[in-house]
Amino acid sequence: MLTSDTLLAALARMVQVIIEEAPILGDLDAAIGDGDHGVNMVVGFRAVEEEYACLTGQDIESILGHIGTTLMAAIGGASGPLYNSAFTEAAKMAGPVYSVGAREVAAMLNAARDGVARRGRSCPGEKTMLDTLEWAAREARNCALLDIPARAVGDRIAAAAAGGMLSTRGMIAQRGRARSLRERTVDHLDPGAASCYLLIATLCGHRASLASLARGSMLAGNRVASDGQDGE
Ligand code: ADP
Ligand code: MG
Repeated sequence: MLTSDTLLAALARMVQVIIEEAPILGDLDAAIGDGDHGVNMVVGFRAVEEEYACLTGQDIESILGHIGTTLMAAIGGASGPLYNSAFTEAAKMAGPVYSVGAREVAAMLNAARDGVARRGRSCPGEKTMLDTLEWAAREARNCALLDIPARAVGDRIAAAAAGGMLSTRGMIAQRGRARSLRERTVDHLDPGAASCYLLIATLCGHRASLASLARGSMLAGNRVASDGQDGE
């Protein structure tokens, strides 16, 4: 289902998606934080892009581990160590292999979720990236348990990640900078939940976009523009 080659191809798309969506991530963070989340993510993924050549031919553990340490070193904000934990724990769970199936992907997403929860001392429901990860990890587990056909697994995980991101809209922030705004954070999406959705949906082969959010349609219609697929 996921090989080191498809992971590298997805990584190249992640860099592009983060660059394209950075203004919206910045706007989301400006509303309930300090406005730097888009820039933070671009700086982090540009740094990953510079390492891209040396990742070719490496196993999944090495690739994901390298992404984690690079993001940690490059990102100044809270999201750096949190994404480091996500990628590092997923890497360890994968181990030194060149391909993984649905069960392993589920275990990796759950490990990423646990890593962020530990590092952030956070729980689902606190309006963070963990809400996206929680929904995606749970759906990945369901897919593995139900033996969902491989071609449908990516769609289901991407849709769940979108659901997790959207669920943050009604929440009161209880972690990070947004926490001090309390009830005023309701009706805003969490920026980290949005970037986490972009990364997971891209990994699942979707052309993820928050553009409809900027036009208000996502907030109104509770939908995200992730329907277009890259055909993987
Ligand atoms: P900073 O908050 O330092 O400016 P960013 O803007 O890059 O860093 O990242 C903010 C995002 O980090 C939030 O939207 C949230 O999703 C995530 N975050 C912050 N603190 C925590 C935490 N304790 N647990 C989980 N996620 C968190
Ligand atoms: Mg910020």
